[in-house]
Amino acid sequence: MSFNALNLDPNILRAIADAGYTEPTPIQTQAIPHILAGHDMIGIAQTGTGKTAAFTLPILTKLAATAGQGRGTRVLVLAPTRELVVQIEENVRAYGKHLSLKMATVFGGVGENSQIKALQSGLDIIVATPGRLMDLMDRRYADFSRLQFLVLDEADRMLDMGFLPSIRTIVRSLPKQRQTLLFSATLSREIEGLTHEFQHAPKLVQIGRRSNPAETVTQWAYEVPRSRKVALLGHLLKEPTMNMVLIFVRMKHSADRLARQLETHGITCATLHSNRSQNQRLRALRDFKSGVVRVLVATDIAARGIDVDGISHVVNFDFPMHSEDYVHRIGRTGRAHAVGDAISFVTPEDHGELRSLERFIGRGLVRKKAEGFDYTDRPEPRTAGDVGEQRGQHRQQSRGGGGGGRQGGYGGQRRSSNSRPQVSGNREGGNVSGGPRPPAKPAGRSWGR
Ligand code: AMP
Repeated sequence: MSFNALNLDPNILRAIADAGYTEPTPIQTQAIPHILAGHDMIGIAQTGTGKTAAFTLPILTKLAATAGQGRGTRVLVLAPTRELVVQIEENVRAYGKHLSLKMATVFGGVGENSQIKALQSGLDIIVATPGRLMDLMDRRYADFSRLQFLVLDEADRMLDMGFLPSIRTIVRSLPKQRQTLLFSATLSREIEGLTHEFQHAPKLVQIGRRSNPAETVTQWAYEVPRSRKVALLGHLLKEPTMNMVLIFVRMKHSADRLARQLETHGITCATLHSNRSQNQRLRALRDFKSGVVRVLVATDIAARGIDVDGISHVVNFDFPMHSEDYVHRIGRTGRAHAVGDAISFVTPEDHGELRSLERFIGRGLVRKKAEGFDYTDRPEPRTAGDVGEQRGQHRQQSRGGGGGGRQGGYGGQRRSSNSRPQVSGNREGGNVSGGPRPPAKPAGRSWGR
């Protein structure tokens, strides 16, 4: 199917062509007609499926059709994190670039004056996190009396993060006559409750299952002693195809320490975790997106909703505690049109979680060994600062996650482009194949792969 068959506004079709999209993704094909027909909708879709465009394109089309009917905020999008809010805004700006619409974002952690000024200037679209918006609404800075569309994006995460009371307060002050679209990775009982509360006869669009990592992601597991994880990472990062690498750790302190350790070996990194200020986080994302740094070290919570095209590799430096986090993490590569590799370090302590994960995703991960790398467990003395941090961290962590703290461990390793894959578990599906990593990632913009 082509975008032309979806009855979108010609100016939006132009913007889609500018973005280089050739065909709609499955959620776009299914959701856009329902939204254009005026229905409420529940979209069950993983991140990376193109869900932002699935709601933005028809909403913008409807706004364009009623342009000139007076001003007033007609669209409110609520999302769980500031990062997601900024990314939704970027998407809306890109798709609406040939329309004259005013929009602004509202989120906590930054000064409120510019947000208040924006709200008072009259906006068509507001993208917000619930907490700050509720605060500004309490003080009557926002007027939603002309609202037509409410979008609850990543509703499951908003519930996890305790936003339900704020969302309830916000929704109570919106017009009853509106179109409400709700997106979530899962359809839990809580989400069903939310849809009964806020929606009217919603259509359900469900794409894939949460336990299904994107088929375009190749998944590898490297078994490594904990003391050798940093050294192995440095060894792998010598591979030039690892050109845009998102590394996950469990704890914010591990993120800082790992970044420091990599930097002592000439690998510049940005970090993303909840101890960083909003400006630092936005700068980290900007530097990563633009290629100023090729490695971003992040924690699970901070990385929620990251939308960065072209991530070549996701590295689970610390094995994820929950299988769902694994699916979420590796969904950061292989987004929409691209392919990518997901690499997981597995220490002996992680074997229980690895087995649970393999049951959850219904397949075994291919075990891989980096050739020319010495896997011998041999912890080395650490710097005073590292020892202090590690002790502090040990108190918080049940196990794993420490990263070994080894400095300088991979300086003398022989570089190798070959790896020996070994298959374990129930092998299934095209992405559990052996063989060396493909040399380059195709970067086409087509969905159909
Ligand atoms: P989302 O699921 O909204 O986070 O989207 C994931 C990524 O897919 C975003 O980076 C979009 O730019 C991209 N995308 C959305 N729709 C399409 C499409 N039809 N073709 C190619 N890429 C798309």
